[in-house]
Amino acid sequence: MSNLTIEYKETNEEMLRNKTPYTSLFRDSLKKALEAKASDIHIEPLVDGLNIRIRQNGDLTTFKTLEKEHRQSFIQEVKRLSNLSIAISNKPQDSRLSLPSWKLSLRVNSTPTIYGEKIVLRLLDMTTEFDLITSNLSERAINDLTVAAKEKNGVIIVSGPTGSGKTRTLFSLLNSLNRNKLNIVSLEDPVEYTFKGINQIEIKKSLSFADGLRAILRQDPDVILVGEIRDQETADLCFKASATGHLVISTLHANSANKVIERLMNMGVEEYMIKSNLKFSAAQRLLKQTCPYCSTNLDKKSIEKVNSELNLNLTSLKERGTGCEKCSEGIIGRIPVMEYLTKEEINNNNTLRRSFLIELEEKASSGVIDKTEVINFANHH
Ligand SMILES: [Zn+2]
Repeated sequence: MSNLTIEYKETNEEMLRNKTPYTSLFRDSLKKALEAKASDIHIEPLVDGLNIRIRQNGDLTTFKTLEKEHRQSFIQEVKRLSNLSIAISNKPQDSRLSLPSWKLSLRVNSTPTIYGEKIVLRLLDMTTEFDLITSNLSERAINDLTVAAKEKNGVIIVSGPTGSGKTRTLFSLLNSLNRNKLNIVSLEDPVEYTFKGINQIEIKKSLSFADGLRAILRQDPDVILVGEIRDQETADLCFKASATGHLVISTLHANSANKVIERLMNMGVEEYMIKSNLKFSAAQRLLKQTCPYCSTNLDKKSIEKVNSELNLNLTSLKERGTGCEKCSEGIIGRIPVMEYLTKEEINNNNTLRRSFLIELEEKASSGVIDKTEVINFANHH
């Protein structure tokens, strides 16, 4: 009889409990990122060392810097702890890291740079709520979006850059639907959060959005979430699915609610198909929320100056504070704003039902965002 050996594989959490310096540093980075509600951790090899930076409220800040002698060993340890193969270093790798007791899951990518592998960890906070009511979107946007989703068929698109919260909005919308009575299917690249009552399919090299969509259409779907419309074939299939009685919810890269329509036409979707099927066309952004404890009210003269420079109509405006124990450099988090067209405007003259400008004025006048954010946003839109 041969000896039976049972190999025991440590969990990610067990590995992280190790007290060696590199493990501790990685654990501290995760802790710091979690406390800061950061979205990403960057581990960057440099010519003379290594940087650990975290992205908080959309901006990167340096957390720690290491000397060159620690560079390679730390990267190797991060790879080991993140379930990346330490035997591979000459090509990109993806992995996941699961820390249930931290209520955290991470999506990891390593890519070779000229000084070694750069590793980026995307934090997925498992306590994130996917609920329109608590989403901080304006009541009007929630109502109009919900009305659009009550249609038996149609296409709903929320556009925006990476990190604009559009995926959260769409899953919150899906969660508001009756999952017992509907067959809801999603195609995602990759699946980040899992939901009860939604059939989630992950896009792979062997399964494109178009392949997945064709398969789903043979599975008696009611509502289909397509992670992103990237090409003509997928765009075409989404609109055909809508025309045959399904509700399709998706995102695409466009700078505004009107540009969504332009982009669809550039991808070859006929105008009549857009007019008869597109029920909601939106663009979403996240704005930095000012700290109510350390921000101050600007005087009338300063507000008038901002109004005349940016052509706004603000009644009051806050100046960002320098930071206090309640915030990070005057910021307490981010809130979503959405501009959109409903089917009425799409069929009419494409005048926005709700514009970013109106949202900006409302959020600034009610003291949610400050002068710095108003200027920053106005200059980019
Ligand atoms: Zn503060």
